[in-house]
Amino acid sequence: MLTSEFKPWHVPLFLLKYAYLTTARRPVLVHFEVTMRCNAHCSFCDYWKTDPSAKATELKSFADAARYFNPMLVTFTGGEPTLRRDLEDLVSSVNRAVNLKYMTLITHGGMLSPERARSLWKAGINQFNISLDFLDERHDRARGIPGLTAKIMRTIPRMREIGITGIRFNTVIKRDNLDQMVPIVQRARELGCGVNFSCYTDAKNGNTDGIIDREQTEQLEQVVSELLAYKKKTRGVITNSDYYLEQIPRYVRGEITEPCRSGMRTIHIDPLGRVKRCPDFPPDFHWTEFRKYEPINCNACYYACRGEAQAPLRLSRVRDVMASPTKAATVSALRQLPARR
Ligand code: SF4
Ligand code: SF4
Repeated sequence: MLTSEFKPWHVPLFLLKYAYLTTARRPVLVHFEVTMRCNAHCSFCDYWKTDPSAKATELKSFADAARYFNPMLVTFTGGEPTLRRDLEDLVSSVNRAVNLKYMTLITHGGMLSPERARSLWKAGINQFNISLDFLDERHDRARGIPGLTAKIMRTIPRMREIGITGIRFNTVIKRDNLDQMVPIVQRARELGCGVNFSCYTDAKNGNTDGIIDREQTEQLEQVVSELLAYKKKTRGVITNSDYYLEQIPRYVRGEITEPCRSGMRTIHIDPLGRVKRCPDFPPDFHWTEFRKYEPINCNACYYACRGEAQAPLRLSRVRDVMASPTKAATVSALRQLPARR
């Protein structure tokens, strides 16, 4: 989905850039991990244990790397990127370095005030991806940030009021939140946001608590079919491809055996400027020594970034990109108006 500052004529330009990068076997999406520090306390990720002294060695600019890769999609991630007070400078220098791109910020949202969102939006962020796995205090407990969910729900309408159109929830599907998937989509629609689902894995720190049991496969299939039915009716809220959603039960049943193509279309660059094929693999080389990746026989995860890279280009995907959650919210709001008598 594109945000309001992009016009329909940008779509063929993006498609051309995508075709060029794919043909040249260059990464389409570059994730800049601007810090590994984090002030959450998630049990399924150890980034928050990063020594605060790591701040001293974090790159002061990612612009040269951005210019070198010239990607179509850029993500600022971490750790928690909003911990960096110079994040606006990092964003605006990458914004100047790459011409045609779409830039996203991934955040837990605990420190995202409307004012901070506005300054990041002005610096060049097109989309804010805010983690949200539950609609209630379970999310606060899982992230170790009291009041987090309420804060996110207060901040998003204020972001929308100041004209920020690109907001998505990043929602991890796991053992204990299958009941939350459809309600999260409904809340996103009311707020004018999108939702991007990803599948839980223990690849970050070996915590298996969130892994979906095989006994839950039937419930999972039911949830996935509800999400696909929702997408058919209303495009633009759920931003995953139909393909990715369809594959999640296959992954849980252990049926996915295709090699992983991480590193071929997407790469991660850590705070020291080193390239990783995916967030959970160690760095291979500094970005100035970049070498092209080959597929790897690894099935440790089925993150959206892995699954989407394998998604075929179907008509439904084009419809997803052209759709807007804002329009969906408007339609939703209109439908809820009482009929005239
Ligand atoms: S999952 Fe995200 S919010 Fe949680 S500790 Fe890791 S980086 Fe921080
Ligand atoms: S399956 Fe791919 S993306 Fe996932 S951990 Fe393995 S190499 Fe990384």
